[in-house]
Amino acid sequence: MNDYHAYICRFAGEKEPLIEEMEHYAEEHRVPIMDDAGLNTLIGLLQIQQPTRILEIGSAIGYSAIRLAKAFPDAVIYTVERDEERYLKAVEHIERSGLSDRIDIVQEDALELDTGKLPDAPFDALFIDAAKGQYQKFFEKYSPFVCQNGVIYCDNMFMHGAVLLEDADLPKRNRTMIRNLHKFTQWAMDNEAYNTSLLPVGDGILIAVKK
Ligand code: SAH
Ligand code: MG
Repeated sequence: MNDYHAYICRFAGEKEPLIEEMEHYAEEHRVPIMDDAGLNTLIGLLQIQQPTRILEIGSAIGYSAIRLAKAFPDAVIYTVERDEERYLKAVEHIERSGLSDRIDIVQEDALELDTGKLPDAPFDALFIDAAKGQYQKFFEKYSPFVCQNGVIYCDNMFMHGAVLLEDADLPKRNRTMIRNLHKFTQWAMDNEAYNTSLLPVGDGILIAVKK
């Protein structure tokens, strides 16, 4: 975490016990939930946009979905998670948060999900935070369900600094993923159907506004 991120986190304020419990769980079980600096920015951008329908790809334990639902009392969130253990934890957290009426979670591989079953489409905001090597596939599959002037946000565009490394310096198992992330970033920036920018906050957030 850089100094500015630590500085931003100083102002995060008191957190509800369930939010803190989720943060501890994530740390203990190495679940890569969004950090406060990134989430703060995402929420700030969404405040401008005022979405009422949000689609999230990659719920993990429900942390970002719950924080977004709390920040936007008029919004409904549809969120997809493929991993069973995380999905079950997310269901438990969502129930305990009392937000089950506004957060709809499904256990499914987002690349296999039948989009005919998507509720509340089109969405004002699409938040992609799943397998980093597959971002273009998620984008291509789900962007048709985003409304005009809607926004697609992608987390972890910097992969904790790995995007700055030369190919040869990357661990072999990460190479394809990082190559795909570079390709996706260029593709998104060049995509004429969107106005796209990359924010150096959190772990890098891409913002693509649908023209
Ligand atoms: N958005 C969460 C963190 C998500 S971590 C938060 O900030 O709180 C990324 C999650 O994406 C992991 O739990 C992983 O299991 C899930 N994932 C990866 N590929 C996926 C896919 N193809 N379909 C659904 N979920 C996927
Ligand atoms: Mg993330």
